Amino acid sequence: MTKKLIAGNWKMNGNLADNAALMGAVVAGLPSAEALEAAQVSVLVCVPAPYLAQVAALRGPVDLGAQDVSPQKGGAYTGEVSPAMLKDFGTRFVIVGHSERRQNHFETNELVALKAQNSLAHGLTPIVCVGETLAQREAGETEAVVKRQLAAVIHVNGHCLTELVVAYEPVWAIGTGKTATPEQAQAVHAVIRTQLQAASSNAKRIPILYGGSMNASNAAALLAQPDIDGGLIGGAALKAADFLQIVAAAQAVA
Ligand code: PEP
Repeated sequence: MTKKLIAGNWKMNGNLADNAALMGAVVAGLPSAEALEAAQVSVLVCVPAPYLAQVAALRGPVDLGAQDVSPQKGGAYTGEVSPAMLKDFGTRFVIVGHSERRQNHFETNELVALKAQNSLAHGLTPIVCVGETLAQREAGETEAVVKRQLAAVIHVNGHCLTELVVAYEPVWAIGTGKTATPEQAQAVHAVIRTQLQAASSNAKRIPILYGGSMNASNAAALLAQPDIDGGLIGGAALKAADFLQIVAAAQAVA
């Protein structure tokens, strides 16, 4: 069992005033950094890049993450953000391969692997998202799809594997209010753990998060599963009370 990681993904939401209110309420409602450490729980928010500096100044015991990164180091790549730029603001984590980027920006497994590699090369921990669509689940392809997505990352980054976080996010559960049952999620997490174990002797230390409509009501049951090491939370991370309840659920099971 690793430390539990509760990560909010704000997606393209927020503004200066709302971010200040949300972070103020989250930080005020969290236990101290020492209490979180004693409970073996880490809390993270992955915010839109323009707000990294703002949230860095408000974060208290909350870690800072970004939602995407360039596979390039720098140069003539208009619109891209490099890992070094993210690091300048104290960013420690970055989501790569979120299904919204795979779908809307046609990101391939190979590109996601290169983004993970570039992150690792600059001391950022990539949160690699994997997960099947509803059609793939119904066709019995869940395991194959998830393994293929992760295999690309393992192939490129094998030697750095302990610095990864993996997030299993069934596409059909993201933002839909439909959640994988704890048993469905655990079954895929076990597959991911086995795949990581084949690639790294430290696989037990790689957090595997569940994401997909995790909320204050279902978090405890999901987080109680043996291979679910935390959550990647979209909608519920925008409401301080809900996010804090998920953190409390993680404390209770950690
Ligand atoms: C996500 O954006 O990664 C996510 C899991 O969203 P939601 O919690 O809203 O389903």
